[in-house]
Amino acid sequence: MAILSQWNWTWPAIALAFLLGAVGSRWLFFKLGFGQKQTVNKEYFKGLNFLLNEEPDRAIEVFIKALEVDSETVELHLALGGLFRRKGQVDRATRIHQNLIARPSLTDDQRMQAIHELANDYYKAGWLDRAENLFSELKDSSGYRVLAIEGLVRIYEQEKEWQKAIDVLRLLKRGERKGLNRQVAHYYCELAERSIKIGEYQIARQHLRNARSEHSSIARSLMLRGDLRSAEGDHVGARELWLSLAKSQPNYAELIVEKMITSFGGNNDVVGMKDYLLNVAVVPKNADAFKLWQESLEDILGQSKSIDHILEKSQNEGMSATLADYLLSALTDNKLGDVRRVDLLKKMLGRAKAKKIEYTCVDCGFDTKAMYWFCPNCGQWESFR
Ligand SMILES: [Zn+2]
Repeated sequence: MAILSQWNWTWPAIALAFLLGAVGSRWLFFKLGFGQKQTVNKEYFKGLNFLLNEEPDRAIEVFIKALEVDSETVELHLALGGLFRRKGQVDRATRIHQNLIARPSLTDDQRMQAIHELANDYYKAGWLDRAENLFSELKDSSGYRVLAIEGLVRIYEQEKEWQKAIDVLRLLKRGERKGLNRQVAHYYCELAERSIKIGEYQIARQHLRNARSEHSSIARSLMLRGDLRSAEGDHVGARELWLSLAKSQPNYAELIVEKMITSFGGNNDVVGMKDYLLNVAVVPKNADAFKLWQESLEDILGQSKSIDHILEKSQNEGMSATLADYLLSALTDNKLGDVRRVDLLKKMLGRAKAKKIEYTCVDCGFDTKAMYWFCPNCGQWESFR
């Protein structure tokens, strides 16, 4: 059944696309009327027939042979090759594109387009070396420069060759890619992280300097500067940097919770630890970070007081899945007591009552308290869920 249903649309769709391309081209118009090219024409319909009968390999044979006689159908071959690749049939796409490139009659632009397609085939097939060679060939061309550079960046990202990714991105001109500086800064962060891990602190420092001069406000470089200090044994300095991150970009505050707690342990700063645990900027949503924070809090305050504190904190923040899980198990284990249980229930119901959002437009994300048929923000009908 699966084969049948796949057949139902796959090959007719490809054949139809092919045929439509042919109808649109000068090629069919001429060839239908002129006797001497009838043979080529017939070959193409034979090929289409094979496609419709789900015999793509025989179809490719026919098309490739026809191409030797008639080079005006290059576009159709490119379209067919692209279709095969998108359907995951990379070996077929590769055959078509390799054959195209071998034709001496191609224009420069057609050849480059075919090389670009073949590079994408190789990339999709996981032959990164071959894809890299072809993209490199194209990166000095005028028409495919940006595409080739982007292709190379994708490869280097996959191979974690961050320096190569930086070097090739530098070939882009200003404005050719949005967010270029942020991207390069993150590559430097990757390099720095690796250097810290293997103890090359001096090199890490240089990478972080580069990251900062590339983009001054990315959170990750600030965090890694703290990591570097910490690795070098400067706990106080590390915590200062991490805290400045949590302060300037609160949505990253939870990323430092584990680092901070471990660091206070690192130089036995119990007073500092207590202060931090009580005043942590956000209750961590990450389960591991939450567990460490909650357990450390319990060590210092005792069970009863730490639950009080967590309940109080949870009042001011949304209920994350992690926090709900913790409160639920505290409730089940009877750790809350009657007063706290009623208190928690009241707070939760009170918060639900004051909720501002009941419905959200699935198309644009517009939030409302009332249900509309028509989204006042994006104009979509029946888009509220
Ligand atoms: Zn909308």
